[in-house]
Amino acid sequence: MAKIIAIANQKGGVGKTTSAVNLAASMAATKRKVLLIDLDPQGNATMGSGVDKYDVEYSAYDLLVEDTPFEKVVQTETSGGYHVVAANGDVTAAEVKMMEMFGRELRLKTALSKVQQNYDFIFIDCPPSLNMLTVNAMAAADSVIVPMQCEYYALEGLTALMDTISQLAAIVNPNLKIEGILRTMYDPRNRLANDVSEQLKHHFGDKVYRTVIPRNVRLAEAPSFGSPVMYYDKSSSGAKAYLALAGEILRRSDKNNNAA
Ligand code: ADP
Ligand code: MG
Repeated sequence: MAKIIAIANQKGGVGKTTSAVNLAASMAATKRKVLLIDLDPQGNATMGSGVDKYDVEYSAYDLLVEDTPFEKVVQTETSGGYHVVAANGDVTAAEVKMMEMFGRELRLKTALSKVQQNYDFIFIDCPPSLNMLTVNAMAAADSVIVPMQCEYYALEGLTALMDTISQLAAIVNPNLKIEGILRTMYDPRNRLANDVSEQLKHHFGDKVYRTVIPRNVRLAEAPSFGSPVMYYDKSSSGAKAYLALAGEILRRSDKNNNAA
């Protein structure tokens, strides 16, 4: 049964999509069966996985609104060894259309319940806002990964985000957990980044991943080749960091399973 992990932060540009794509590829490289669901109408995770968002017949819109069978919606030819449910501009319409649907918060959860047994991990790339798409992701997920940049005010934003997640969880998904907080675009030479990082560990303890994603230009270049970074430059610091993160997540869930 797949573990479903939403990658969310209502702030844009913090590395959600980069993390979703490269974590999916890294998990797939460890022979796990992985599905990546793109819920951002910008479709960056779709393009970054080697799927042309302008050329797909069905997208997340069809899964959420039209009850199109998953087998028709899923893209199996990707550059990263995982499956993709694509997003493009149509997904904006899904946001609007779902508003007037019965059980609108649970559309994604219902769609995934039929295919959850076919995967080990399902990652959901959320849009940078707290709309009905994000609510659907939170309702369907077992846990949330929050990527963040260690900059001024980051901690304030994070506390607000955590409050929002727990308020939302109370309504649509009481079992939702914080999987982890991921420091992205990290520059260890930056003193402010180090200070914020220390505060983060102080406040959130071992929820903060030990793995840090460095600022690495290869991570920014790879999407224009429609490829996760590990298939663009496998020796890059970005590729190594996301592989390490996948390892950390696997070790953590083994630990939790043994404890249960
Ligand atoms: P979000 O999905 O949260 O909006 P993205 O993953 O799209 O954020 O990242 C925003 C921009 O920063 C993109 O241009 C991306 O290529 C770049 N980027 C993300 N992570 C890194 C990193 N670790 N190093 C360098 N550039 C990065
Ligand atoms: Mg994004």
